[in-house]
Amino acid sequence: MALMRRQSLVKFDAPLCETIVETPRPQGREVLVRIERCGLCHSDLHIQDGYADLGGGKRLDTTRGMTLPFTLGHEIAGVVDEVGPDVPKELIGAKRAVFPWIGCGQCRDCANGDENLCAKQRFLGVSIDGGFATHVLVPDAKYLLEYDPLPVNQAATLMCSGVTAYGALKRLVDRPRQRNLLLIGLGGVGMMGLSFAQAMFRQPVSVADLSAAARDTALQNGATTAYDPSEPDVIKRILKETGGGFDEVVDFAGNEKSMAFAVAVVARGGKIVVSGLMGGQFTLPMVQWVYKRMTIEGFMVGTLAEGQELMALARAGKIKPPPMREEPMADVQKWIDELRAGHVVGRVVLTN
Ligand SMILES: [Zn+2]
Ligand SMILES: [Zn+2]
Repeated sequence: MALMRRQSLVKFDAPLCETIVETPRPQGREVLVRIERCGLCHSDLHIQDGYADLGGGKRLDTTRGMTLPFTLGHEIAGVVDEVGPDVPKELIGAKRAVFPWIGCGQCRDCANGDENLCAKQRFLGVSIDGGFATHVLVPDAKYLLEYDPLPVNQAATLMCSGVTAYGALKRLVDRPRQRNLLLIGLGGVGMMGLSFAQAMFRQPVSVADLSAAARDTALQNGATTAYDPSEPDVIKRILKETGGGFDEVVDFAGNEKSMAFAVAVVARGGKIVVSGLMGGQFTLPMVQWVYKRMTIEGFMVGTLAEGQELMALARAGKIKPPPMREEPMADVQKWIDELRAGHVVGRVVLTN
């Protein structure tokens, strides 16, 4: 009997701990992947908490349908260890990144390729066991992506922060107004967005973040202008400098202040895509919404097709990887604590 090790959530709002179980045997189109790397993401922290912040002291319970012990981690890359009877045996030994945003495969959204919208989602590390482990069972071989010649760390993180940033930006291409673009929030996803935006858009890319260090990094990495949202009268200055605001805005932070800022600096007829999940509430005077003819779209993760497009871009050398550091899988709780405390720059990638 083969055994696998996992860093498991055994209780919500409590540290992960190691559990040992029998390694699952893949059935049908399933594939067992031996994990080489799994990135640590902010959403792992939210799942560990068991709630999302709705603002005003209210919380959304996110524990529904989850059984403990549960394995977090959704930025996975590794080697195919075993395949189900309906998968070609040649796949065994292949190095692959794992696309984690998997739907039920049965519903209308899944049939349309919008698995990220599926109500019966099987997101790895979110609703079924994920990557803080030695092995992961993937529901179908089609979710495995070739990543050669990319480094394995980049391959793993592209599937979450990468596909999120890419998908959010894709919702802004081909719009009638294309003078300028603003990215708010320069964490892992926002920094990746900055790199993609330069490959996807012709217009200048501005950024906004409270951290001076993040703004400097962004300016060194191709941003044309960097704004500090806490600067007095910054909104007035932006509206003047941009001739009425930004046609396209992505809010990668997704909190009350970042959205208030986005709404204040979006131009008439402009669009805001919100993909951050820091939480809270935001209010908007109806007349301001209508007067500005603005569009606000919420966006989370991405589709398998977007994952494949992004992987192709990266494999063609069009995308610069963000800063990353490798740490042992057994230390995952320590790095969760560091990330919570805001002590992590770039991405932590856990290794087996
Ligand atoms: Zn993630
Ligand atoms: Zn579905």
